[in-house]
Amino acid sequence: MIVVRCDACGGKVAFDADVGVVRCLFCASVALEPVPADERPPLPEDVVPFGLDRESAQERFRAWTRASWWRPKELASVAAELGRQALHAALLELDHPITGQRMRFASPLPDDISAALEGQWDDIPRRSLEAIAVEAYRTGALTESQVRRLLGLETRFQVHALLKDHHVPLRYTAADLEDDVQAQRDLGILPSR
Ligand SMILES: [Zn+2]
Repeated sequence: MIVVRCDACGGKVAFDADVGVVRCLFCASVALEPVPADERPPLPEDVVPFGLDRESAQERFRAWTRASWWRPKELASVAAELGRQALHAALLELDHPITGQRMRFASPLPDDISAALEGQWDDIPRRSLEAIAVEAYRTGALTESQVRRLLGLETRFQVHALLKDHHVPLRYTAADLEDDVQAQRDLGILPSR
């Protein structure tokens, strides 16, 4: 067992000594420093071996990206090009446990994921925002009108088309009804209150 620390991202990874080319699991860098014995994390007493080898795991990953509406299908080829896990937390939002203040952390896509998506997605920030908006709609975090405003779409039919592309069923909520009623009031179709 060898333990290395990544110069690029600081991640620490333990490998079996017989692994050929070693890359950082987090950023795929090969700039790795051996960690001195006294700084190594304690090794586990027992290890459960993986049931799948690398090949079949990748094949299942590709099948999974094809089966799920949420994972853009381009990810299957992107993951193969990256040489590391294509994981990225674009947005984290939480209420501070003591002050109660809403905290929001956004981080742009790493260069290698951006580069791999380049040419597959015409506009990466836009497609990322759409994916987040659709997921937020699916889980009920955003209403249809909120999705429309977030994405700057002019009509709800554009929202419907986007949801259809992502195989997300429409959900009509009381808030949507309220928005529709307000829009009709603004247009003079319904009397204003
Ligand atoms: Zn790294």
